[in-house]
Amino acid sequence: MTKHAALWNPLANDSHPAGWISSDAITLSNLIRQGIQPSPLMVCSGGTSSRCAADGLWTLDLRARHRQLVISEAGDEVEIGAGLSMAEVLEGLQTRGRSIPVGLSTLPGSGFVLTGGISPLSRSQGLAMDHIVGLRGVWGNGDFFELSAPVSPHEEQQQWRGLLGAAPFLAIVTAIRLRTQELTPLVIWRSIGSAQQLSIAMEVAEQWNHSASLQWTWNERIELFIVCFANDAAAIKAVESLKTRLGQCAESSMTMVPGQHAQPPFGTLARSTALQGRIHTEIVSRLGPAWGQRWPALMAELEQLMRRRPHPGCQISAQQLGGKSSQVPVSRTSFLHRDAIWKPWCTATWSAGDTKGRDRALEWLWQTNNLVSDYCPGAHLAQIHPHLSCHKAELHDAFQDWLPGLNQLKTHHDPHGLLPPL
Ligand SMILES: Cc1cc2nc3c(=O)[nH]c(=O)nc-3n(C[C@H](O)[C@H](O)[C@H](O)COP(=O)(O)OP(=O)(O)OC[C@H]3O[C@@H](n4cnc5c(N)ncnc54)[C@H](O)[C@@H]3O)c2cc1C
Repeated sequence: MTKHAALWNPLANDSHPAGWISSDAITLSNLIRQGIQPSPLMVCSGGTSSRCAADGLWTLDLRARHRQLVISEAGDEVEIGAGLSMAEVLEGLQTRGRSIPVGLSTLPGSGFVLTGGISPLSRSQGLAMDHIVGLRGVWGNGDFFELSAPVSPHEEQQQWRGLLGAAPFLAIVTAIRLRTQELTPLVIWRSIGSAQQLSIAMEVAEQWNHSASLQWTWNERIELFIVCFANDAAAIKAVESLKTRLGQCAESSMTMVPGQHAQPPFGTLARSTALQGRIHTEIVSRLGPAWGQRWPALMAELEQLMRRRPHPGCQISAQQLGGKSSQVPVSRTSFLHRDAIWKPWCTATWSAGDTKGRDRALEWLWQTNNLVSDYCPGAHLAQIHPHLSCHKAELHDAFQDWLPGLNQLKTHHDPHGLLPPL
């Protein structure tokens, strides 16, 4: 049991856990065998999700003891402790001119990699998860594991598949071995657009077949955020041509950065003023195909929902997939929705302690999620919600016909439900 460092996620940080565990894998395995009660055990790596700590439950804090970063001699692989943030991983790799594709923020920890890891670079480099070549840790039953990416179909492939995308339900991963990428400068265009300009940008982006990806967030205003490799002439030409087609966009800026460690913040342009007070949030994420002709109808309904949002922090965002992220066989990982082109996510926000405000925000979240689900049938479990009514439906939408296989793994490797339920 240890004192813990603050958690980035305010909801988790404001919770009152039974206590904190910070141990190496051997002590963890012993503790599990002795029995940790009450369960489920919460697991915290980056501490950025709402469910890494909760009232009355124990939290395993990986940030204190699992911090190694070992780069292979050739630089093409790295082993990271599961307590490092993506910022720390990028910082370590940068010294060797290497990188991995991380998300729109470098704050998240290994939960980002293990739940998929959708990056603005995923269209050309794949998901962060697609870079995993080895995993080490402790199953929910206390057994140790050390697995390498399987080369042929055999029993262990099921375990591998389970851990890549559903690890939070099965095991505690303490170390991850990843393939690295060459660190390459990026060009990033940010701007404020109207709903009409967003429509045009989405229509154009759905045709892209190079490294450019479109991200957007819709709050008080709509922020457009496009990322591509600085050495990808076709992508830069496409971004320039989109800029011309969109015409006047407020606060437009094009920057070149040496890599994702230096990418500008995403989402800050969408609000003119910062939110006041202590804010709690829940986020649900969907995955789905190109929206094409269906987008105007969806946009009209989203406009209505945005007008009725119960708190100024409630927002809808999306990031673009496709390309490399769609080339991994569905049966290889628990990230099933390989055909997804868009990952929209909805953020419900309320002031800490305002229970009515929480109810209103969650009601808005369910309405928005229902609407978006018609267009994006898949769920992305980047945030897990065993404490909310959507949990069962989200599991079904994330894992579909692989859910029985995961339940079988859970029966075997976490029979007493130490980790969140499937
Ligand atoms: C600012 C911000 C930007 C983001 N941008 C993106 C993005 O661009 N793309 C994207 O895909 N996602 C993005 N996310 C979502 C984020 O990647 C997920 O919520 C991720 O699960 C967070 O991981 P964490 O380690 O930081 O969080 P934590 O809250 O510590 O962990 C998240 C969950 O994963 C489980 N978990 C964590 N580590 C382990 C482990 N080692 N073994 C077993 N279970 C574990 C925990 O039980 C917990 O439920 C973003 C989140 C934030 C806050």
